Amino acid sequence: MSEMVKTIAVLPGDGIGPEVVEQAVQVLNAVARRHGVTVLFEEGLVGGIAYDETGHPLPPETLALCRHADAILFGAVGGPKWDRIEPPTMRPELGALLPLRKELSLYANLRPARLYPALADASPLKNALLGEGLDILVVRELTGGIYFGTPKERTEDGHRAIDTCIYFSEEIERIARVGFEAALRRQRRICSVDKANVMETSRLWRDIVTHVAADYPQVELTHMLVDNCAMQLIRNPRQFDVIVTENMFGDILSDEAAMLTGSLGMLPSASLGNGSRGLYEPVHGSAPDIAGKDIANPLAAILSAAMLLRYSLDMEEAALDVERAVEHAIEAGYRTADIAGPGDTPIGTREMGERVIERLR
Ligand code: NAD
Repeated sequence: MSEMVKTIAVLPGDGIGPEVVEQAVQVLNAVARRHGVTVLFEEGLVGGIAYDETGHPLPPETLALCRHADAILFGAVGGPKWDRIEPPTMRPELGALLPLRKELSLYANLRPARLYPALADASPLKNALLGEGLDILVVRELTGGIYFGTPKERTEDGHRAIDTCIYFSEEIERIARVGFEAALRRQRRICSVDKANVMETSRLWRDIVTHVAADYPQVELTHMLVDNCAMQLIRNPRQFDVIVTENMFGDILSDEAAMLTGSLGMLPSASLGNGSRGLYEPVHGSAPDIAGKDIANPLAAILSAAMLLRYSLDMEEAALDVERAVEHAIEAGYRTADIAGPGDTPIGTREMGERVIERLR
């Protein structure tokens, strides 16, 4: 059998980006080898460091690298050094991540919020609500809705402003399919969140999602109004498996779900489009306050690598191996400073990476 070779574009970026991405790359290397896959890593400049070296936060070479790769592993971009660049579209956050998503037509944002039982004390919720832990996946539409609809303007007298919420049925259908496909790999339950009692776009959303559900008879679909969902996430978060929702609702609900887990350093994300190529990144930023000190938590980046295995390389077993290894490292008591409790002795970024690798199957 010829060996499978996959190419991953690695964009470490700024601050702690390079430190956490290095650990994710080591984990990917180790797990891919065990599964008989050769991974080629090709590194590209992005963010503030790319601006310093090339004059652009997303140089054309980096974009070209991403276009031919099977997947993109992204660290984080930005920092005080680049906060005042003019025009603002040349600043790392606006000039790199948003255009990258746009250029690669990545319209689906997947944000799992998982609370490991051993980290229950980090959650702001009472232990009684958390049971065996939480495992929610928020699937957010990323390119439509009120953030992008036009007209979007303020009148000259400054007393009237307008944003426009538009959704096309094709946009809803494709994100709904991402949600249902994700649910198939999980507990096969999906909750579509909208505001169909008030908004026309939400009524279209509900119709289309219901229509798509006919293709997924194995998945149980429910609908929930967004205000109720915000409440249910606090009252009974364990009722959710996959939540699929439009751009603005997803923006808010994914942060709410994330906070239930209490630790920014543990949260991965994926941005997907048509086809298997995706962009994988920790939810956290470049954390300039702790950069270069070997104290950042690499688990969000490592768990992003697990998502990369699952969604872009179709290596579900390898993804599960990584997720289990992370869980076992946590259960064994290893903690970086951000998730350490009063009695814990924190370990560094590199050591946490090593502890995960030694627990791979
Ligand atoms: P941040 O996520 O970088 O940091 C917030 C706090 O969480 C800090 O105290 C930081 O030390 C801590 N933290 C974050 N990640 C951690 C980790 N892995 N381990 C341990 N602690 C961690 O958010 P911020 O401070 O608001 O932003 C810093 C910079 O990052 C800004 O320039 C911002 O624009 C940028 N940013 C980039 C992205 C991205 O690249 N996707 C996302 C958010 C913020």
